[in-house]
Amino acid sequence: MQELAFKYKKAYMIVFKFGGASVQDAERVRSAERILRLHTGQKIMVVISAMGKTTNALEEVAVAFFKGNRQEALDLFHAVRDNHLEMASRLLLKELPAARERLSSFFTEVEWLLHDRPVRGYDYYYDQIVCIGELLSTAIVHAYLKEQGHLAEWMDVRDIIRTDDHFRDAGIDWTVTAQQTASGVLPLFRTVDIVVTQGFIGSTDENESTTLGREGSDYSAAVFANLLDAENLTIWKDVEGVMSADPKLVPEAVRISELDYSEIIEMAYYGAQVIHPKTIKPLQNKKIKLLVKCFSDPSLPGTVIHEQRPSGLPPIIVWKHAQALLHLHSKDFSFVGEQPMAKLYGILDKLKLKPNLIQSGAVSVQLCLDEHPEKIDRLCLSAADIFDVEVEKGLSLLTIRHYSEDVIQRHAGGRNRILSQQTPETVQMLFRK
Ligand code: ASP
Ligand code: MG
Repeated sequence: MQELAFKYKKAYMIVFKFGGASVQDAERVRSAERILRLHTGQKIMVVISAMGKTTNALEEVAVAFFKGNRQEALDLFHAVRDNHLEMASRLLLKELPAARERLSSFFTEVEWLLHDRPVRGYDYYYDQIVCIGELLSTAIVHAYLKEQGHLAEWMDVRDIIRTDDHFRDAGIDWTVTAQQTASGVLPLFRTVDIVVTQGFIGSTDENESTTLGREGSDYSAAVFANLLDAENLTIWKDVEGVMSADPKLVPEAVRISELDYSEIIEMAYYGAQVIHPKTIKPLQNKKIKLLVKCFSDPSLPGTVIHEQRPSGLPPIIVWKHAQALLHLHSKDFSFVGEQPMAKLYGILDKLKLKPNLIQSGAVSVQLCLDEHPEKIDRLCLSAADIFDVEVEKGLSLLTIRHYSEDVIQRHAGGRNRILSQQTPETVQMLFRK
């Protein structure tokens, strides 16, 4: 094992992650194969998400099942099944029977479960059902790679990634996962060049499936990059690379060619839809480069994310709409000290709410949060024990990193600003329509 780990270290092993959009139809699966062909000669761990909107569709299956609507759940699931069968027959010829067999075993797994009655919590069933999306997509992609002559192996990641039983938001057991990677993944590369596996899912020590949180495939890929000491991780995306703003909202958005780990974490924190925030740490720990590359044109340079901070980052602009602002006033004009604040944080933690902005004064606190209707109502209700509460909805939050007065003027000028907060690096402004 020692020798093997050494042999495939650095310079050899790379990790690719293809998201749901990159495998949503047969044409895209063909493009993914072409990308892999461009990297012939390298050992590649390929981590894949569920196809297109499959995860959302499976969530609906889980909801229907849990409500006790068995027939509805089965019908919804059969639509997912048929999609995948159709995709398989579009892509495969020689490998079709083997692929069908593998797919069928997963269909059966879910159908059995759907014939039962729910006796455990929703999150448990969610994970047992939703994890199938990744198992199906990887089975198809793997069969297609074989059909195209690649030396590729399919791997059930649930045999490798060990998690706790915090269903829907499972935490990875790094020790067991590292051991299982060494004994279960590395040897595969002795005989094949490509190992295809699932993002987003794992398993408990009791063989129950788990998921790592929505959009968690980036994180899975980073875990493998770390444990395999990969030379780099490439996330293949629909965009040119990491952009300075969402091009749909800000026409002057540009591609950023180089970023450091902390900047990308900051961007995700302020709401830029770039990469799952958990992805960075496993990479940073081993200084593994993250490349964000354009799926539809792999010749484009994309974005490199690494340790060194590049000089002269462009202004980064993040718009978040549908924001709620809570004004919390202390009852009877007493100071808002540690105790009420601690209670407030306790409530936020319990509701799993993360404020996008907090501003506190002597007798009041203001919180800006995503407008999650039901959670905001519960927050207001709980906070009313400590504060007088007012809430305003329908607001927009603008965050600019590396700002200049000029940039602020251009994006915020003439708007109805009701709150702002500024550090040397970041300015945040909240607007009423
Ligand atoms: N398929 C999962 C989701 O849609 C995981 C991922 O795509 O990263 O959230
Ligand atoms: Mg996805």
